[in-house]
Amino acid sequence: MSTRISIDGELFEPDRARIPVFDRGFLYGDSVYEVIRTYQGKPFALDRHLERLERSASKLQIELPERAWLVREIERTMAAAGNAESYIRLIVTRGSGPISLDPTLAVGPLSVILVKQYEPFPRRMYEQGIRVSIPQVRRMPRSADDPAAKTGNYLNSVLALGEARGAGFDDALLLDVHGRVAEASSANVFVVRGGELHTPTLETGLLEGITRGFILQIARDHDIPCSECEILPEDLKTADEVLLTSTLREVMPVVGIDKHTIGSGRPGPMARRLLDLFRKRVLQLVGRR
Ligand code: PMP
Repeated sequence: MSTRISIDGELFEPDRARIPVFDRGFLYGDSVYEVIRTYQGKPFALDRHLERLERSASKLQIELPERAWLVREIERTMAAAGNAESYIRLIVTRGSGPISLDPTLAVGPLSVILVKQYEPFPRRMYEQGIRVSIPQVRRMPRSADDPAAKTGNYLNSVLALGEARGAGFDDALLLDVHGRVAEASSANVFVVRGGELHTPTLETGLLEGITRGFILQIARDHDIPCSECEILPEDLKTADEVLLTSTLREVMPVVGIDKHTIGSGRPGPMARRLLDLFRKRVLQLVGRR
């Protein structure tokens, strides 16, 4: 059980890892990142994560190191950490520069790869489901700080989660500025109604989750009707099931939203089915490499 951090290709133990205070990731959240996990010791869907990192970086015009170098460095850091299953956080900042917002003054990029032991979420969250709240804080519109880019600026989610946790909930489900459901603080959301699966459209303003993509594909492959559509808070409260998806959570059932109980108040059959199908798909893909 250990943690190792690569900073621009140099490996550190956690208490030795340092980045400059002039780094723009620290100063402004001027960075992009990915969170990847391993199954059977192999980073899952690494290509998809690196493609999303590239899309995020190109939105911010942050220059990334070569993909092959990043892959090698992830492998080297994992080997140094030596865990059976790893949590991998890959961060690329625009680098350091004088104190100025002007991005052209940066000398960078700076790459950080943090590898630690993968810790699953508590079983009770899957067995009993979680309770979420809809905070006052709204998801940033696409025309401002586009949630489609996975940047180091997570203040929007931090505030939302802080509000939800402060009120005793497990997570926050953010609405966009028009009042439509967007996503959770660090997960996508799906609604189940009459055996059909619905998830907010990308136009709402949300991160295009890798797990979301797998779930949509699995639904198509198994003839589960699914659509990307507009979802309102009322739709959630009257749904049969609500689910969150993310790399770390996989598929997690939501059994309550604010004062409302979802369905029977217990995780429903679709949550279980999709979690099983997702895990099967993961093992097929990991085994194929
Ligand atoms: N939305 C947000 C805001 C997130 O931070 C995450 C976690 N990366 C997700 C959705 C889920 O994405 P993924 O399935 O790729 O982990």
